[in-house]
Amino acid sequence: MAWTSRAGKRMVAGVWLALAGGSGAALAGQADVVAVVLGADAVAKGEPVKVATVSVRMPASGVQAGAPLLRLPLVTSNVKTSAEDLRELQARDDKGPLALSYRDDAPGPAPYRRWVAERAVQGPLHVSYAVPIGNVPNPRGAAPPLELRSEGAAFSGATGAFLVLPDHDEPYRLKLDWNLSSLGEGALGVSTLGVGSRLAPAAGPSKGWESVFVMGGQVGREPASPAPDGFFAAWQGQPAFDARALMRWTHQLYDYYLGFFKTPSATYNVFLRSNPINPGGGVEIGNSFVGTFDQHTDVDEFKVTLAHEMVHTFVQPIDGEGLETSWFNEGIAVYYARLLALRAGKISRADFLADLNSTAARYYTNIKNTTPNADIPARFWPDTRVRVLPYDRGALYFAQLNDEIVLASKGKRSLDDLLLAFLDARRGGQPSTQEAWVDAVVREIGEKGRSQFAAMMRGQPIVLRAQAFGPCYRIEEATLRRYELGFTPDVLIQPRRIVQGLVPGSAAEKAGIRNGDEILKPVPQDAIQGDQKALLRLQVGRAGKVMDISYLPRGETVAVPQWVETSTSCVQ
Ligand SMILES: [Zn+2]
Repeated sequence: MAWTSRAGKRMVAGVWLALAGGSGAALAGQADVVAVVLGADAVAKGEPVKVATVSVRMPASGVQAGAPLLRLPLVTSNVKTSAEDLRELQARDDKGPLALSYRDDAPGPAPYRRWVAERAVQGPLHVSYAVPIGNVPNPRGAAPPLELRSEGAAFSGATGAFLVLPDHDEPYRLKLDWNLSSLGEGALGVSTLGVGSRLAPAAGPSKGWESVFVMGGQVGREPASPAPDGFFAAWQGQPAFDARALMRWTHQLYDYYLGFFKTPSATYNVFLRSNPINPGGGVEIGNSFVGTFDQHTDVDEFKVTLAHEMVHTFVQPIDGEGLETSWFNEGIAVYYARLLALRAGKISRADFLADLNSTAARYYTNIKNTTPNADIPARFWPDTRVRVLPYDRGALYFAQLNDEIVLASKGKRSLDDLLLAFLDARRGGQPSTQEAWVDAVVREIGEKGRSQFAAMMRGQPIVLRAQAFGPCYRIEEATLRRYELGFTPDVLIQPRRIVQGLVPGSAAEKAGIRNGDEILKPVPQDAIQGDQKALLRLQVGRAGKVMDISYLPRGETVAVPQWVETSTSCVQ
């Protein structure tokens, strides 16, 4: 029943579409090139990388003293970046050393550190610096695995977490080189641009180049070099499971997706790394994805996460504000991950049902499940119960819609037909908005499609028919308990997590938590929320003492639908 977290935030996919299609981007041949070389300080065999090294060469001639020159996010997708930790930052141009100064944007969802030069720049600008890698859990709480992290003589991260780029929005091509000799023989650099030294085929702005994932050093790999269909997987550290076998499984599912979505193959990288906060989660980034694990990762559950992240590559978000439209891409990913994996013969029907039932259980026990869609962005990061809604509600909306299409067409059509036609129209340049989606739904099932959609957006609970997943399954009601942290959830995303709003009579109170206690370590909740039996383990500081407090974070009991097989011989 455990539900692996899939709360990774989508990256700036719109930019990537532009890059992939080339439309709107400058002609690659004429665009400037920003050249990056990534390396690392030497480490003892098998030890983590302590310091990554970065050098960047970029056109900047004529940029005046004090004018915008360089930038790096301070926070990206709720990840605290390395911006405040850069060491030995040096710049030079044709006139020699160039003194830089910086200022930080005011706090907000996406603030930057911005550097300016103290005189005009002449000729290409060379910037170099070192980035310590502390493997410190993100102090801001739940977030995708984008920060620099290292295990076993390899390091990885998203460029937005450590790479200083030009502070402008003009398109350019990114060139990525590696200098990994310090990490021993056989060290390899891989990025979402491909294996080894790569020049991006198309130009894009700095915002897009923040979404390149890189992994360098002594990495595991499968296959040995990129497959003809573009698939390549790399991982750092030593997973407790057979990573090579798991990546062969993923590769086979990838090939199934290529057929289902009728998509031509392209460079496609899978990165795996450990994650002490939200193991089992992942993030889709730059036509590739990052999956995370720890020593307890259940491979069967992890497979569904891998299947989920791969759906994102094939079904990009619809146009609009990321978190407000995430019901679409996250809902589709949850709905199709288990379904396509089942059809491809890559998971069992028991696995399919376990995943479906965990979605249903988390949704129907969620006291916040009537939150209107428009209110999700503001509460997405602070409240796990809101954060999981686009996933759970979106997936059940698509299940309901599929059922309606099957009924309306007497079994001739399904959500597959609607989605594939929608994706086809998008490739043909048709609008890919929420309105376009609703119009397509109405063409399929009539005005009922519009009212069901509006009800979902208002937060009206989704009710599915017992046969919504076909004649092979029926509903059996279960009695489950709501997730209840027991104090104000916003506490957990503060720099200092001081308990407030303790709920009288809650499990937290009974376990001994008090208002004013400091929670000393970040607390993952998304997976715990989906697992009725999972304990919340807090390390608490009070009056100079440190104590461990655990409790079952559950409140009132509610009846929820769960699906079971009607007959083992049922073929779907
Ligand atoms: Zn997702």
